[in-house]
Amino acid sequence: VSRLKHWGWGLEERQPAAADVRAAAALIAARTGVAVEEVEQPVALEEVSVRAPRIAAPAALESVLTAATYERARHSLGKSYCDVVRGMRGQFDDAPDLVARPGDERELEAVLEWCAGERIAVVPYGGGTSVVGGVTPEVGGDYAGVVSLDTGLLSGVRELDAVSRAARIGAGSLGPALERELGAQGMTLRFYPQSFEFSTLGGWVATRAGGHFATLRTHIDDLVESVRAITPAGAWESRRLPASGAGPSPDRLLLGSEGTLGVITEAWVRIRPRPTRRASRAVAFDDFLRAAECVRELAQSGLEPSNCRLLDAGEAALTGAGDDSQAKLIVGFESAEIDVEPALEQALAICAAHGGEPEPERGADGAAETWRGAFLDAPYLRDVLVMAGLLVETFESAVTWDRFAALHAAVGSAVETALAETGVAGGRVHCRLTHVYPDGAAPYFTVVAPAARGEEVAQWSHVKRAASDALVEAGGTITHHHAVGRDHVAWYERQRPELFARLLRAGRAELDPAQIMNPGVLGL
Ligand SMILES: Cc1cc2nc3c(=O)[nH]c(=O)nc-3n(C[C@H](O)[C@H](O)[C@H](O)COP(=O)(O)OP(=O)(O)OC[C@H]3O[C@@H](n4cnc5c(N)ncnc54)[C@H](O)[C@@H]3O)c2cc1C
Repeated sequence: VSRLKHWGWGLEERQPAAADVRAAAALIAARTGVAVEEVEQPVALEEVSVRAPRIAAPAALESVLTAATYERARHSLGKSYCDVVRGMRGQFDDAPDLVARPGDERELEAVLEWCAGERIAVVPYGGGTSVVGGVTPEVGGDYAGVVSLDTGLLSGVRELDAVSRAARIGAGSLGPALERELGAQGMTLRFYPQSFEFSTLGGWVATRAGGHFATLRTHIDDLVESVRAITPAGAWESRRLPASGAGPSPDRLLLGSEGTLGVITEAWVRIRPRPTRRASRAVAFDDFLRAAECVRELAQSGLEPSNCRLLDAGEAALTGAGDDSQAKLIVGFESAEIDVEPALEQALAICAAHGGEPEPERGADGAAETWRGAFLDAPYLRDVLVMAGLLVETFESAVTWDRFAALHAAVGSAVETALAETGVAGGRVHCRLTHVYPDGAAPYFTVVAPAARGEEVAQWSHVKRAASDALVEAGGTITHHHAVGRDHVAWYERQRPELFARLLRAGRAELDPAQIMNPGVLGL
């Protein structure tokens, strides 16, 4: 039976052999010029020890809660670079005492009631792909223990309204499963974050994830019609509406609540027929900032490409979409209803006016396809690179166009300085634009550097702090789609209005009087 690795990304059966790890790492070393070290083997599950549980399941909940080491280790960490390093080394210091897998809302309510009564913290866990400490049971305070609440059994497409093109889907549904079920009825949600394979609808809603579309409906927010959650104070369900002007939106408060208000159990989402027409091209530019100007014009043109990803030369080389000499723009359109070729022609004309050279159409071998393949394989590759002694991490933001070039320069220089301060030579920082808007862009940075073996967490924390300071000081947000979690709280608090913070705290106190829901996340 396939099961997920207890550390890092993916299924146990896809963990590559040491020789394959060395070969993949050597390839990346050649592409980036970053030296690769001896391959380290992960600590096997049999050698992992987690602290003894501080709490025991009450008899009525014995079938819902488990203290098995595999489950507790797997629910100890998310999927950030530091999580992968800790998991590989078998460091599960903050393992939850118990893992709950409620099969329905009744069981979920019973778990929350027990936890509130016993002052046990609850950390909602969807796919566990958080890269910001959102699922890490580091709750502080004087809690009697921590339960990681896995939503995996609250899954499946439960209802489909073909007239309104909407579906009611269980929050624990993983991307591939929900697409399979919708696909059987000719429909699709078309929401593909890079973590699609192992992240859940509930996780996307709770973190305001960013998906497939590079313009227009970039966040899950735009695809959510209504949300249902179980809070410690009871059920919260918003009304299904195509739009509404009736006061502050009840959906909006749950979108991005990151498990601090309750557990999202299902959502009605907007679906569409699968696209039958697609057109995309890769366009090469000599200069990244000139290419970014072109992307701005594309975003302001009204063409609304579904894909509009700009990679700098280094990022293009890293993903195999280029050779480190030119920036690459992947621009694409898709539709189930209208011809998309004319839109692509217009987009290419805008590119040409900015010095962009369309690459010849190369079908499955083209840069667009190469980039897509690399995009989907990246999470697997990262485990391999960590084993080979490379620091590989990403961070992202959004900023208005008038400040984009300054932010890009400030972040690049802050990261390079911080890497040098950690005594590392030969690190690289690359940038791509993942989502673009008429008034700004979402830059996404990738850092690749030799890891300070044994000191990776301190090394990365130093770089991350410098990058985050630079982002926020340059006018960007601390996150465009990775969420706040525990890791971004210091910068989130700098950007959110203090009165809004007070309002959130008051709302949380109303819904969760015992303050058990994901303490520490969002600074709550
Ligand atoms: C390799 C990789 C690529 C990624 N790519 C993207 C990307 O393209 N776009 C993007 O937006 N993000 C991306 N992420 C980040 C992550 O996948 C998203 O934040 C995703 O939305 C998390 O979903 P999940 O089901 O894994 O949630 P989890 O990681 O399990 O949880 C995330 C947060 O939401 C809370 N939560 C989860 N489920 C519920 C629920 N049902 N009710 C209440 N709270 C809940 C948790 O407590 C936690 O605070 C990536 C991460 C990795 C590791």
